[in-house]
Amino acid sequence: MLRSPLPWPTRLALAALLLGLCLVSVLLWQRLQVAQQARVAERVDYQARSLAQQLETSLHEQVDDLRRIALQWNRRGRIPMNEWLLDSRFSLERFKGYQAIQWLDAELKMRWIEPLQGNEAAQQFQLTPAHPNFNLAIQAKTLGEPRFSNSFALAQGGSGFILYTPLYIHNEQNERVFDGFLQGVFRVEGLMDELLRHPGSQDFSVHLLEAGRPIYSHQQPDALATLQQEVPLDLLNNQNFTLRLKPTARLVQSLATPLPKIVLGASLTISLLLVAAIGLALDNARRASALHIGNRRLSEELAQRTKVEHVLRDSRERLQLVIDLTDSSHDGLFIIDPQSRDILHMNKATYSSLGYSAEAFRDLLKRDPEQLLPGYHAWLEGVRQAQQDQLSTIFQQTMRRSDGSEQAAEISAQLVLVNNHEYLIGVTRDNSQRLQLEAQLQRLSQQDGLTGLYNRRFFDSQLASEWRRLRRQGASLTLLMIDIDYFKRYNDRFGHLAGDDALRQVSDILRTSLKREGDSACRYGGEEFAIILADTGLEGGMHVASRLQQRLATLNLAHPDSPQGRLTLSVGLAVAEPDSGGSPEQLMAHCDQALYRAKHEGRNRICAWQNSPV
Ligand code: GH3
Ligand code: MG
Ligand code: MG
Repeated sequence: MLRSPLPWPTRLALAALLLGLCLVSVLLWQRLQVAQQARVAERVDYQARSLAQQLETSLHEQVDDLRRIALQWNRRGRIPMNEWLLDSRFSLERFKGYQAIQWLDAELKMRWIEPLQGNEAAQQFQLTPAHPNFNLAIQAKTLGEPRFSNSFALAQGGSGFILYTPLYIHNEQNERVFDGFLQGVFRVEGLMDELLRHPGSQDFSVHLLEAGRPIYSHQQPDALATLQQEVPLDLLNNQNFTLRLKPTARLVQSLATPLPKIVLGASLTISLLLVAAIGLALDNARRASALHIGNRRLSEELAQRTKVEHVLRDSRERLQLVIDLTDSSHDGLFIIDPQSRDILHMNKATYSSLGYSAEAFRDLLKRDPEQLLPGYHAWLEGVRQAQQDQLSTIFQQTMRRSDGSEQAAEISAQLVLVNNHEYLIGVTRDNSQRLQLEAQLQRLSQQDGLTGLYNRRFFDSQLASEWRRLRRQGASLTLLMIDIDYFKRYNDRFGHLAGDDALRQVSDILRTSLKREGDSACRYGGEEFAIILADTGLEGGMHVASRLQQRLATLNLAHPDSPQGRLTLSVGLAVAEPDSGGSPEQLMAHCDQALYRAKHEGRNRICAWQNSPV
């Protein structure tokens, strides 16, 4: 079965749905991405703040040693140098961020430095008002609280900070007297490097800004400037510092979740699957409906076919009946192709009445139709012409039997066009018996019942038609009118039956005396007869008339009441040339006159018109 794709509108709708779903997926992904970025930024911010806090806390914790030393100093009075050295070394050991721990006495002159090595330059140092930290130091002294300086150029070189922790002692009056500053000296790099040893610090590029000016940086190669944070830093109450932190890509990556990407991938996949599923469902529905329609059509066709088969069987049975019927017919019935003479159908009578087998008939019609039906082609043309002229298409033909004899056949034929193809439907009937009967009837209607000669009606029409024929030929026509002499007396003597018999004998003489075709003898009425002699002149007529008389004389029928003692004839003769004018009636009149003369002149004689009796 051919699979036709989904129709265009459905495909477009599905494509639009897919596009829409993809768009929604991308939007969702974007929203998640933005949310994630916000969350990452938040986390980075938190991390940065916690780093800054750690840094602050760590510095506080590390320099707590100095506070403790100061407390001791303040409580116990100036501590001995050795003890101070021990404490200082301990602190230096604990926190590598120190450059040095120093005691600046009340005169603000450098007294003790630990370690000395590397800090020799500071040995002679005195804090003067010119020093950038002077005011800060005085502030610390006044408030009695430690103060952390801004960065400045260290006496031992480089940039650093100092934590000024004011020291006090009690004098003899037990008054609290300023005893200088315990100083924690830090190099910027040293302090920051130490403070940034914390594991979390590796996640950021760190810049320390002092009043917005960078003074330290600790770079990470994969730091992201986009998520840069600036966190204010409170280094031991000095709030001039800011930490600028750039998170590393690694950190950002660890904070980010693959959720948006997973969601995007899943959502795109689901969209695709959903659209594919809808497409498949639609296709299935369409195919199911097509199948349903197909099934319905099929069952309709099946029903139709069953009906058609039924009708076909019915009509086949009827056809068989018709064929059987035609086979029982004595008339031949056939359907042929007139051009090729192939037989589409013929019943048994068609061939068997002529003594052929079906095969022989079929073969002969195909091979030599003129042998079967002499004049076949002319007849076919005649049928076509008659049909065109709307004349009768019943033809009287002659067919030839298998033994060579001929048979009269009345063929009724009809040419029909079926699907542009011409067929000839014919019915043949052997009508020889009917023709014979017709001929007999014809004869009977023309015959005289007593004598068997032609009757008066035939005589009239025969005379007229012979007149026309001989006029065309330019030949002469002779008419004899014959009357038996004294026949009344014959009847009277011998009776009517004998008279009838005599009439028959005379008639036989008349009939048998005519030799030529076209000559005809008629009983004109009573004991009068007429003979038409075609293409015969006076001489021929006289000859025939004489012969009649001679033969009657030979027969010698006794007639005692006649002067001749036997039966005699009087003959009137008239000759006409039909092409020279005149008419049959005129000829009759002449002949009648001639007969009258023969009677008048004594009977038993022949009188010709215009002529005297011979
Ligand atoms: P004519 O010589 O002048 O002809 O004398 P005729 O007696 O023959 O003539 P007529 O016309 O006077 O008589 C004719 C007779 O022929 C009358 C009738 O008795 C007889 N006849 C006519 N028709 C028949 C017939 O069919 N049968 C018989 N037996 N006689 C007939
Ligand atoms: Mg008569
Ligand atoms: Mg007579």
